Amino acid sequence: MQPRHVYVHVPFCARRCAYCDFSIAVRKIVPVDEYVDALKRELRIRFGDAKPWVLDTLYFGGGTPSRLGGEGMSRAIDAVRDYADLSAGSEVTLEANPEDITEHAVARWRDAGVNRLSIGAQSFDDDVLKWMHRTHDASAISRAFDAARRGGIDNISLDLIFALPDSVKRSWESDISQAIALEPSHVSLYGLTVEPHTPLGRWRSRGELDEAPDERYEREFLFAHEAMTAAGLEHYEVSNFGRDGFHSRHNSSYWTGASYAGLGPSAHEFDGLGRRWNKSAYVDWLRDLGADRDPIEQSETLTDENKTAEDAYLGLRTVGGLLLSDAEIERTKPWIAAGWARLIDGNRLLLSPLGWLRLDALAADLTLLRSR
Ligand code: SF4
Repeated sequence: MQPRHVYVHVPFCARRCAYCDFSIAVRKIVPVDEYVDALKRELRIRFGDAKPWVLDTLYFGGGTPSRLGGEGMSRAIDAVRDYADLSAGSEVTLEANPEDITEHAVARWRDAGVNRLSIGAQSFDDDVLKWMHRTHDASAISRAFDAARRGGIDNISLDLIFALPDSVKRSWESDISQAIALEPSHVSLYGLTVEPHTPLGRWRSRGELDEAPDERYEREFLFAHEAMTAAGLEHYEVSNFGRDGFHSRHNSSYWTGASYAGLGPSAHEFDGLGRRWNKSAYVDWLRDLGADRDPIEQSETLTDENKTAEDAYLGLRTVGGLLLSDAEIERTKPWIAAGWARLIDGNRLLLSPLGWLRLDALAADLTLLRSR
């Protein structure tokens, strides 16, 4: 299999954020040599005879890939490049926390091929950042933007989390306006979800967490839509906004059903027919590779039913929309009347922001119709 998109999971974080249930490895000192050696082994074991292999997108996510530093990231990219070439105009993204972004590190990343940074800002309010257990303060975000641009990367995406508890007293309007003022090329929004095995999950089970009501989730989502689109960032996917020419090509591959490879602990991979995923814990991934074993945790083949559900769900997520049959057009008339969707070209359904707030229900309804 030679997919044109590769995801590499780098699990290291300084500590766990209050809401995070990703596969991470908390390390004060990042074991760069150990990680890069294991990544090389995974590439050799799983893709040793892949050449010629040309990538359109390469994405380092985490965890916090920027904790590998300038030199470590450069070595991780070189490891991938030993097996796969980057196409001319390829998109190479690195997720970075603000405090890791220095002009020197960015210049090193850029020289290694990185041309897009995704910065985990989350909020511009110091009290909110403390509540989230983030390791940066608000001033680090604008410093990171300056350093990124001075280092030679100005394609910058920024992540924000919305729908926080009332008790946190966050001003969403202020955070959105400060995000826009930095002129990012892309913004990703995440509504706070409370997962059981996180500090937030524990606070909730002790009755110490007042989750945001649905109305506020909806109000903040719609406010972001209005403000971002007014600032020239197209709302092109339920959670993502981008300037013209700066939509995430890597993430778009997930939404269009393209195949992709996944390397590193917990990384998922899709070959068009099914998925496989790696062992989640860093030490388990490392142990398998140390024994020259594929670190696979499990695989699954998509059933027709899975595929129908995924097609509906993915199609409705983006402004690409979903092609409908005549019967489906009939079925969706009430959604259109409610302002949740519209038809273009006669048979392609696009959800509005109000529709995206009901995405799961609408996708389930269409899946049911298609499965009959
Ligand atoms: S930096 Fe990201 S991956 Fe690491 S703990 Fe925080 S949210 Fe999780």
